[in-house]
Amino acid sequence: MRKALIAGNWKMFKTEEEAVLFTEELARRVADVQDREILICPPSLYIYPVVHALVDSSVMVGVQNIFWEDQGAFTGEISAPMARSTGARFAVIGHSERRQYFAETDDTVNKRLMACLKASLTPIVCVGESLEEREAGRTLDVVGSQLGKGLKGVSAKDAPHLVIAYEPVWAIGTGKTATPQLAQEVHAFIRSVLKGIFGEKPALAIRILYGGSVKPDNIDDLMAQADIDGALVGGASLDAASFERIIRYKG
Ligand code: PEP
Repeated sequence: MRKALIAGNWKMFKTEEEAVLFTEELARRVADVQDREILICPPSLYIYPVVHALVDSSVMVGVQNIFWEDQGAFTGEISAPMARSTGARFAVIGHSERRQYFAETDDTVNKRLMACLKASLTPIVCVGESLEEREAGRTLDVVGSQLGKGLKGVSAKDAPHLVIAYEPVWAIGTGKTATPQLAQEVHAFIRSVLKGIFGEKPALAIRILYGGSVKPDNIDDLMAQADIDGALVGGASLDAASFERIIRYKG
C-alpha cells in the first residue's frame, strides 16, 4: 500500500518571517494527520528556519532543486548533501519551470536524480507535456521519453525511493486541471513504463503525484483514482487553509 504524499511547492514566494509563521500554522492545523505524508518545499534559503519550526511535527521539508556535484566552484548552486545536511528530505527535480526558464533537460534531470539518491534525498521527478504536445496527440510519447531518459541508470533497488510527479505543463498555475480520468490515464501509463524499467514489484511501490492547479475543490476526485498517490501543489499550498483542505482530501 502506497502512503499518499501531499507536497507543497512554494516556488519563489514568502519572506522568511512569512515562511516561519505559515509553517507553524500548518503544523498546528495538521498535527493529527497520520495516514498521509505532508511535505513543504520552501525556497532553499529558508530550509533551516522551516525545519526548526517543524521539530515536533511530522511535516517534512524538501528543496525545489539541487545541483548534481557534491561541492565545487558552482556559484549560486546548492548540492544534494548540503540540502540533506539542513534537514531537507526531498528534492523536486525537473520542474517544468526549471525546464522552461533554466534550460533543464532530461540529461540534467538524470544527473540531479542520481545525486539525490546518493545523498539519501528523495527525488520528486517531474514530467509532463505542453499544450502543443497534447494537442498533437504526443502526450504519452513525451512522458515516456522524459521517464526513459530521466531515470536512466536507476536500479530496481533504488526505485522505491523515487517519487514521480505528472504535471501537464498546460495545467500548472493556469487554473486548468486535468480531469481525474485524463490524469489517471497518464498515471497508468507512467506505472506501465515504470514496470517496464524496474519490474512489477518496484514499480508498484513508486508514488506518482499529480500536479497542475490542484485545489480544495478538485483534490477528492483526483485522489480517488487508482494510480494517483498524492499531489504536488503550487499556488494552493501557499495558503494554510486551502493546503490543509487538500491534505485532508476525502477518500
Ligand atoms: C507546481 O508548481 O508544481 C504546480 C503544480 O503549481 P500549481 O498548483 O499552482 O498549478
